[in-house]
Amino acid sequence: MSTLLEPGLTHCHPASVPDFTPVEQLRALQLQRLQAVVTRAWQHVELFRSRMDELGMTPADLRSLDDIAKLPFTKKSDLRDTYPFGLFASPMKDVVRLHASSGTTGKPIVVAYTQEDVNVWTSVLVRALAGCGLHRGDIIQVAYGYGLFTGGLGAHYGAEGLGATVVPASGGHADRQIMLMRDFGVTAMCCTPSYFLHLIDRADELGIDMKELPIRAGVFGAEPWTESMRQHIESRSSIEAFDIYGLSEIIGPGVGCECSRHDGLHIFEDHFYPEIIDPDTGEPLADGCEGELVLTTLSKQAMPMIRYRTRDITTILPGKCECGRTLRRIGRIGRRSDDMLIIRGVNVFPSQIETALLQTEGTLPHYQILLTRVQGLDQMEVQVEVTPQMFNDKIGALQELHTKLQGSLDRVLGIRVKVALVEAHSIERSEGKAKRVIDRRTS
Ligand SMILES: [Zn+2]
Repeated sequence: MSTLLEPGLTHCHPASVPDFTPVEQLRALQLQRLQAVVTRAWQHVELFRSRMDELGMTPADLRSLDDIAKLPFTKKSDLRDTYPFGLFASPMKDVVRLHASSGTTGKPIVVAYTQEDVNVWTSVLVRALAGCGLHRGDIIQVAYGYGLFTGGLGAHYGAEGLGATVVPASGGHADRQIMLMRDFGVTAMCCTPSYFLHLIDRADELGIDMKELPIRAGVFGAEPWTESMRQHIESRSSIEAFDIYGLSEIIGPGVGCECSRHDGLHIFEDHFYPEIIDPDTGEPLADGCEGELVLTTLSKQAMPMIRYRTRDITTILPGKCECGRTLRRIGRIGRRSDDMLIIRGVNVFPSQIETALLQTEGTLPHYQILLTRVQGLDQMEVQVEVTPQMFNDKIGALQELHTKLQGSLDRVLGIRVKVALVEAHSIERSEGKAKRVIDRRTS
């Protein structure tokens, strides 16, 4: 156990030093890098250059960081429209890696890395994992999918760069994951929070108490999750759960991560410049205001992203973090504007449903939302698993739970939805990102 008790290492690790750069120095570095990356995109990316031309701008117009607001946005559709390599700023001979994310429709979006980009990616993940208290001597199991998805390899390089021992389990095969955790003495897990929850359930069934295992940290990302979900996971295992943020378009996981204070996620802003905008007007919003997160890659070579609209809704938290990092923080992302469902004119987010469920005793945080359209009217049914004890209880207890849940969902959502209580395990488990919404509406 002594290997786990070396907190000094976390702070001495050279890679963690940029986290504490004095603010003025950090801003100067950001401006210098912004000017360089904009020049690079302007010189090599046709789409960006033509948009700058339309605005009558050149990179020389960037004199301060505030000038970033004058630059054109980049959207996900730009990646699709220029598929596969249209946004590359490096020739293919300098590109050492391609990743792609599966789109819901048609072609995936493709992202590219030079060796320098891979090194930056590794370094931000080292800083992220170090911020979660992990270090050399830790045994880190990576249960994100390896492959075109950035999760697996991203976490892998970071954990290896940290000097930890990596167990590249990739996604799926819950029983094997649990066996590895136990037999190898795994101390930290990187995966989606919904998958970890699935592992806890499975361990229960196998008669293995997660609290008895040496695992002490979970670094969870790739899907929005709530504070209630954190409490639930921590109460059923002995881990401390950290939220990590990233997206392939920017670099993959490691754009930001929580520190031990769990008070927002620090953005590694020497490489990724954050802004919050009004998603309707595109106007920048002040710190503390909720809006859409926009990110600019400050050092990316192969595929610079200038003012990329993430669709993630959050705030930049005002004030400093007690940990001493000078990096700004964003609030946890509970929702993505892409996830927003519009049901009979009302905006509904799956995370609101998750919160309501976790506050109701007798339900499991496994749920699915089924959308149908009956005579032109949207119908939403929330299917919720209930604990086996509940199902074995008298009918009255189920009825009571149903009423309670109906009431809390009505309150949270502001519309009436159908609630269906289903037996434990009747909702399909995902091996990666949880599929919360089944949309059977045909327009
Ligand atoms: Zn902090």
